[in-house]
Amino acid sequence: MSDTQREMHAQSMSELAAGLDRGDFTSVELTRSLLDRIGKLDEKLNAFITVTAEAALDAAARADKARAAGEGDVLNGLPIVHKDIFCTRGVKTSCGSKMLNNFISPYDAAVVEKLAGAGAVVLGKSNMDEFAMGSSNETSYFGPVKNPWDLSCSPGGSSGGSAAAVAARLAPAATGTDTGGSIRQPAALTGTVGIKPTYGRVSRYGMIAFASSLDQAGVITRTAEDAARLLGVMAGFDERDSTSIDQPVPDYIGALKESLKGLRVGIVRQHFDEGLDEACGVTVKDAIAVLESLGATTVEVDLPNLDLSVPTYYVVAPAECSSNLSRFDGVRFGHRAENAEDLLDLYCRSRGEGFGDEVKRRIMTGTYVLSAGYYDAYYLKAQQVRHLIADDFKQAFAAVDVIVGPTAPSPAFKLGDKMDDPITMYLNDIYTIGANLAGLPAMSIPCGFVDGLPVGLHLVGAHFAEETLLRCSHQYQQATDWHTACPEDFR
Ligand code: GLN
Repeated sequence: MSDTQREMHAQSMSELAAGLDRGDFTSVELTRSLLDRIGKLDEKLNAFITVTAEAALDAAARADKARAAGEGDVLNGLPIVHKDIFCTRGVKTSCGSKMLNNFISPYDAAVVEKLAGAGAVVLGKSNMDEFAMGSSNETSYFGPVKNPWDLSCSPGGSSGGSAAAVAARLAPAATGTDTGGSIRQPAALTGTVGIKPTYGRVSRYGMIAFASSLDQAGVITRTAEDAARLLGVMAGFDERDSTSIDQPVPDYIGALKESLKGLRVGIVRQHFDEGLDEACGVTVKDAIAVLESLGATTVEVDLPNLDLSVPTYYVVAPAECSSNLSRFDGVRFGHRAENAEDLLDLYCRSRGEGFGDEVKRRIMTGTYVLSAGYYDAYYLKAQQVRHLIADDFKQAFAAVDVIVGPTAPSPAFKLGDKMDDPITMYLNDIYTIGANLAGLPAMSIPCGFVDGLPVGLHLVGAHFAEETLLRCSHQYQQATDWHTACPEDFR
């Protein structure tokens, strides 16, 4: 079948861009067809919190007009979805929480602004774990998201709505955020591509903060090429984010073509030790063999402090979240309890009613590790270990260009399976958290199936080596077709 005959929803963003350019369809037609699919199929998935149909069709009409006039930027008329953590002007921005269920943002996040500026059409806001805390999308106030590959399984989290929407062909791309793995782990569990750029590469302005020193915005797509296209628009300096880094944005698409000859790929032995599902391990090793056949050489690298990354993260992230979430008190921000007796009662009840269990658990842990008397033993210690982990990566990147391994310890797990056991849930991010602690760019791409469920290959690069990750992924996708697989009920 030629591209023009393939159904619109089956096409990648780059294919859709070409289709729009050729005049095979208009953005209004494309947008309408995806809105129809969302209307028909999302009740199975619960991937959306809000669908912005009217605004999407208006934006699509504007994009068609611009195209007809020979104008329009790189994303002109292309549909996307935003994780509901990004502030969107005039639209509910809930962050997956009852606390913000009534919040209509008065302004756009930098990411939202930039993508709209390049012509993207926003279909709606995707479901997510409450305040991005979770690995299964089950902590959302709006109910769990289902995995399109098996509706009884989790799509991962916290960007599970974004990942499910892209995997089920309800949208070609979606934004996400990643504090400890929330773009990459759901990408792995749904057979999509997810990239978390270097800390500071994309502005966090207007992205509701969870753990500010770890949070980064990124995208979920079906191809590395689409990720490159979107990242090129999203990346760049923003004076409204004091941690944004002023570095030129490279031509990510231009960099994709270069071969992998001579690329030094690091393999971490501990990644394949106990804890990893055996069949997943085999799948990941097969993917590494493909990279070798494309000209890459593999080198074993050591990350001696890697096993400390999960405990370190679960001190740093709760500490920062306890501070960030203190603003939701029912007075300045968020849900307000009714009939409070006094101010303290208002604070306590508003927070008690507005936050779910996992968020409360994190706030309590965070408050504890920051409290006088425990600060040195926990928070300071965690920051020191964080430096050791970052140093391990620095040493490793003296010898290799990219580190590859599994994204998650297993394929998608059943909804409900891990909810009563936070520690097992936290271990889901064992391979992804290191990149956040060290501020490094990292990516997950589909590399096979185990028992009919997708498996992800994880790639980590040195600071600002997004080009290497994208190129490596693109070359892998030129040689394989895992990324083209589509769950049966969503073809
Ligand atoms: N699963 C991790 C957590 O629960 C990471 C979440 C994220 O990256 N936002 O904190």
